[in-house]
Amino acid sequence: MNRLYVSEDLDADLPLTLGKEHAHYLATVMRAKAGDQVLLFNGRDGEWRGKLEAVGKSAVTVELEAQTRPQAAEPDLWLLAAPIKKERIDLVAEKAAELGASALWPVFTRRTVMSRVNTERLGAHMVEAAEQCERLTVPAVMEPADLDKALAGWDGGRALLFLDESGGGAPLAQVLAELPAGPLAVLVGPEGGFAPEERVLLSTLPFARPVGLGPRILRAETAAIAALAIVQAVRGDWARAPRS
Ligand code: SAM
Repeated sequence: MNRLYVSEDLDADLPLTLGKEHAHYLATVMRAKAGDQVLLFNGRDGEWRGKLEAVGKSAVTVELEAQTRPQAAEPDLWLLAAPIKKERIDLVAEKAAELGASALWPVFTRRTVMSRVNTERLGAHMVEAAEQCERLTVPAVMEPADLDKALAGWDGGRALLFLDESGGGAPLAQVLAELPAGPLAVLVGPEGGFAPEERVLLSTLPFARPVGLGPRILRAETAAIAALAIVQAVRGDWARAPRS
């Protein structure tokens, strides 16, 4: 059954018409036809099962039949990532969605090679990943910023664990086990790692802690994915509401 992320409200007896983009996907790519069922979610109203009524190239009308899963709270977990090569940051975006991140924040550090990042493309990868992995929200892509600026405006209520390849940090799982529950952020550096002055800055911030991922130097995308998997393992929300 196709599962689609939509922006429209989802509720019983609400007429629902999907626009061109979804119509193209359903009619042309998936060759869906009237009578087929579809799952829909919008990040607010849980997940709904619907039946396609009219399937056209520019619009599809859906009759919403029932809510299959109620909207549920999801982890408040940001990933701050220095933009790296295109395919690799795309992979990070996709895996961050699968691993429950609530936001991806591209941050430019002193050794970041990429001078810009296509947030629209990253967002599209995360929508696709959210549809596939059956989560009920899509992570936000935050406005790219210089790391210094992101840190200057930081809300101290959110712990920031920065992935420190220099071995300066305690193992991530151990730090997580000692950390009180609450909003969390993980920061991963670029291919060239963090500059010394960035480490000094981070070490002065009360909300920031260096953490390690083992003795080997991981690629940035490996480090990001491994860190999110560890957060999920230590703090993961395992309760998955069954589909009714
Ligand atoms: N230029 C650095 C070097 O050769 O030492 C490597 C940077 S690494 C390719 C990219 C990022 O991944 C690092 O900035 C860090 O955030 C993270 N990372 C890689 N290995 C790590 C490890 N063992 N522990 C913690 N973070 C790691």
